[in-house]
Amino acid sequence: MDISHPTILLMAYPCCGKGKIDSEAFNNLVQSGNIQQILLDSSFSNMNSSSLLTKILNDGQNENEQLVSLAEEQNHQEFSANDDIAKQVEFIITNSTRISLARISQYLGKSKEEILLIMQRLEKANKIIRIKDIREMACPDCEQVRIFQIFHCPACKGSNFKQEKLIDHYSCSNISPANSYVDDICPKCRKKIRILGCDYRLMDNYYVCNDCLEKFPQLSSDFLCLGCNSRFEIEKAKWETSPAYGRYNPN
Ligand SMILES: [Zn+2]
Ligand SMILES: [Zn+2]
Ligand SMILES: [Zn+2]
Repeated sequence: MDISHPTILLMAYPCCGKGKIDSEAFNNLVQSGNIQQILLDSSFSNMNSSSLLTKILNDGQNENEQLVSLAEEQNHQEFSANDDIAKQVEFIITNSTRISLARISQYLGKSKEEILLIMQRLEKANKIIRIKDIREMACPDCEQVRIFQIFHCPACKGSNFKQEKLIDHYSCSNISPANSYVDDICPKCRKKIRILGCDYRLMDNYYVCNDCLEKFPQLSSDFLCLGCNSRFEIEKAKWETSPAYGRYNPN
């Protein structure tokens, strides 16, 4: 057993195999002060490292066998990684009133199965609550649910629009933004507008395109996938339903 520069004592065997620690070499190793990490077998997993060390040394003096399994260490590493992911999942959910399994698994690049287990654990621990399933739009190309809605002018498809109140002057049919009626004078016929509902009407929440000057009551929209940059209309969208959780019940 070469102990010249050991940083990790690795007695690695497949899951059910057994590894013998050379107790003399191990004692030298311990005295060298070079042990930074000891791999744990499941039978040691609830012992801290100093009591483990004591046990190994004592057992070593008794020339007993020690079991150190690589598989268990891998599990241990996965467990700490899972712990990190669990923290991220908890952070994301406790900062949302509702968020879906599909979205979190895509944010974190983990499988839905893996994230669902974490969600269920957090739910059992009363850290988050399960709410109604969420149905979300997904990209027709890559199936991600990270979709951004883009609003645009229905005439020129540009996004350079503003929201305006319009005034429709009945007698001359002029429709233009309320602020174009300076001192209540119609910008087209130069007559004064007088009685709301009688000689003019106010059209709330209209949009005016700064580029093509089109006026429209509703914006058009399509969708951009933040995963693959594909742009698509609602008719092309896929739909995905998945379990949802939140920090409290929003309903
Ligand atoms: Zn336009
Ligand atoms: Zn007019
Ligand atoms: Zn996509």
